[in-house]
Amino acid sequence: MNLYNTVFAGAKQALDTAAEYVEKAISIKGMEHKVAFPDTAYSMPLIYAITGKKISTLEELQAAVDIVRNLIVRKEQLREAENAGMGAAVAAEIIEVLKYVTLEKPYEDPCMGFLPDAVIRGWGVGLVTDDIPGQAVIIGEFPDNESAAKVIKEYQTKGLLTFLVGKVIDQAIEGGVKVGLEFRVMPLGYTMTSVIHVVTVAIRAALIFGALTPGNWEEFKKYTYKRIRAFVNAVGPLSNFKVACGAGAINLGFPIVTDQNVAEVPMKLITQKDYDKMAATSLEIRNIKVKITDIPIPVAFAAAFEGERIRKEAMFVEFGGGKTDSWELVTQRDIGEIEDHKITVIGDDIDSVTQAEGRMPLAVLVEVAGKNMQPDFEPVLERRIHYFMNYIEGIMHVGQRDTTWVRIGKDAYEKGFRLRHFGEVLYAKILDEFGAVVDKCQVTIITQEAKVKEYKEKYAFPKYNHRDERIANMTDESVDTFYSCTLCQSFAPAHVCIVTPERLGLCGAVSWLDSKTTKELDSTGPCQPISKDGVEDSIKGCWTSINEAVNTLSQGKVNRITLYSLLEDPMTSCGCFECIAGIMPEANGIVIVNREYSGQSPVGMTFGELASMTGGGVQSPGFMGHGRHFISSKKFISAEGGPGRIVWMPKELKDYVADRLNATAKELYAIDNFTDMICDDTIAIESEAVLEYLTEKGHPALTMDSLL
Ligand code: SF4
Ligand code: ZN
Repeated sequence: MNLYNTVFAGAKQALDTAAEYVEKAISIKGMEHKVAFPDTAYSMPLIYAITGKKISTLEELQAAVDIVRNLIVRKEQLREAENAGMGAAVAAEIIEVLKYVTLEKPYEDPCMGFLPDAVIRGWGVGLVTDDIPGQAVIIGEFPDNESAAKVIKEYQTKGLLTFLVGKVIDQAIEGGVKVGLEFRVMPLGYTMTSVIHVVTVAIRAALIFGALTPGNWEEFKKYTYKRIRAFVNAVGPLSNFKVACGAGAINLGFPIVTDQNVAEVPMKLITQKDYDKMAATSLEIRNIKVKITDIPIPVAFAAAFEGERIRKEAMFVEFGGGKTDSWELVTQRDIGEIEDHKITVIGDDIDSVTQAEGRMPLAVLVEVAGKNMQPDFEPVLERRIHYFMNYIEGIMHVGQRDTTWVRIGKDAYEKGFRLRHFGEVLYAKILDEFGAVVDKCQVTIITQEAKVKEYKEKYAFPKYNHRDERIANMTDESVDTFYSCTLCQSFAPAHVCIVTPERLGLCGAVSWLDSKTTKELDSTGPCQPISKDGVEDSIKGCWTSINEAVNTLSQGKVNRITLYSLLEDPMTSCGCFECIAGIMPEANGIVIVNREYSGQSPVGMTFGELASMTGGGVQSPGFMGHGRHFISSKKFISAEGGPGRIVWMPKELKDYVADRLNATAKELYAIDNFTDMICDDTIAIESEAVLEYLTEKGHPALTMDSLL
C-alpha cells in the first residue's frame, strides 16, 4: 500500500472508532452530558482551534464527528493527505475526551494523559529563553530499552521537552530514564490516540501565547510551524493510524524521523535507523541548535534535572535547611584581588560525613571581577546559583542567601561527585552566561563550621543588608529609566512588558535589576531602557515615551498602556504570568489566582479560565497577568486604590505574600494584618459567603469608590 492510502486508511479507521465511541457514550450518558478535558479553558483545544467552537456536550461532540468526515477527502496528494492526518488527530481528540467522560481514572501512573493549561503556561519562560530548546514526541517502540533510553536521555540532557506515547514509556523507565514533569519527560499514554495530548499542548501554546483566532486554522498552522520547535520520532512498526497521525504532524509543521523504510519527503519525513544518530538528525531537521557547556563533573548537567528532588533515603549528605548554617553569595572584587578559575574547598569534603547525621554546614562564595561588572548585577548572578546547582543530576538546591538547603544524592556521591564540582559548575556557568560582565571568577566552598560563621558575618550579611536597603529605596520615582522586555515575543509577538523597580515582569523572573543586567549582557537584546519622558498621568502611570516604545515594540498593536491601572489600558499579558487578577464586582474588589491553584474562584472561573481572558499581547481591561511579587507593591493597581482592593486569593498565595503585603497595607491604609481580611479558598469560594466574610472583617474594598 502506498503512503497516501495508508494515511486515508488510518484516518478512516480513527473516524469509525470515534463515531462508534460517541454513540456508545450517548447511549450510556445521554445527549446532554458534559464534555471537556480537565483543567483547561479550551474544552477540546484542537476542535476549538479548527472550528472556533468549544464543545460542551455529547450532542455537540456527535456533530463534531462530521469535522473529521469533511477532512478526509481521498486524493493522492500531499495536501489531502495532511488534511486526512488532521482528521485522524481530531478523531483521536474525540476518542480521548470520551475516556475522561466515561472512565473514573482515564490515566494511571506513570501516564499523564491530558496536561493542564497551567503546565503549558509554566513552560512559557523556558521556551522563550531557549532553556527549553525544543519538543520531541516519541511514538512507538524501540527494539530494546537501551536504544530508547539513549535517545531520550540525549533530549533530556539538552533540555528538550520529550513526550512519550506507546511502549517506549516502559522502555524508558526500564532503561533508567527519570520521567515526569520535573524531568521534562512526559509519558502520555500507551494507546496511540494519546498522542493528541501533545498536539493540544502545541495548539494551546498558540491560543495562550499567540492570541490566534480560533477557527482560523491557517493561522494556527503558521504559528506552530514557525514558533513551536517540535518534531516526531516514530519508532517501530508503522500502523495505519500512526502514519495518519504523522501526516497530521507534518500539517502542523513538525517533521518526522523514523527508523522504518519510508518514501522520504525532504525536511518532512526522514529515515534514520541508527539510534546513535536519531537525536542529532531530528534536531538538525527541525533546526534546533543547543548550546552545551562542557563541565568536568562526573554526573550529568542539564536544565532537565532542575526539578529533581532528593528524598531522604536517596540522600548522601545535606546542608542547611534550617539544621546547619548554609549560605551563598556572589560578590564583586577588584580584578587584581582574585584568581580566575581558582576553586578552593575549606574544611572536610563530603567523604567525612558520618552517615548517622549526614549533615554539614556550607558556604558557597563566588567572587567575580570584570570591567563591566556592577554591584547591581550581584543579586542577579547570585539567583542563578539555585538553577546551576539544580541542573546537576543528583543534586537538590532550595532557597537562597542564608536559607539554602542542598542535598547530594548517594548516586552522585558514588559516581565521584565532590564539593569542588560545585565550583566547576558555578565557574563554567557564570562565565558562560555572564561572560559579558565577568572576566574572572573564583569559587570558595566552605564546610568548616567556624569559617562558615565567620564569613557569614564578614561578607554575606553586610551584602544582603546593603542590597535590601538599596531595593527598599528603589521606587519608580527614584529612577529615570524603566526597561522593556520583549523576550516573550517569540511566542506572543505583540507583547511587551515594562519593568520598573516596583513592578517586575509578569513571569516573576525579570526584575528591574535583571533587565538592567540583561541590557548590559546583550546591548541589542530583549531588555531596552526607556527614559520616562512626558508624563501623561502620574496616578495611572502613563508616559508618552513609554507609549511610543510600546507602540514600536508591539509593531503598532498597542499604543497606550498604564502601569498602575487595571481598568484603563492595562499592560498586556503574554501568557506565562504567575498570577491573574480579575474583578469581583459585588465585592468592589479583585480576586487574584495563581497558576498552581487548580480550584474555583469566587468569580466562577478557575485560573485557566481567567487566564484565557487575556494573553497574546492583547489588552483586556479588568484582567491582568502579573508576578507574585507585584501583589505587595505599592504600585499594584494603585490607580484603583492599590492592594487594598484584593478580596480573595488562594491560601497558598496569601501565605506567600503575607509578610510583604501586610507591611504595605500597614503603610498605605494603617491596617494591621491585612491578609486576615482577605478571604481564601479554605474560608469560602462561593460569592455570597465571600461577601459575608469580607463584611464581617470590615474589608476596606467595601467602602472604596465604586470600581465600575
Ligand atoms: Fe516575558 Fe515579560 Fe518575563 Fe520578559 S518580563 S520574560 S516579556 S513575561
Ligand atoms: Zn511570557
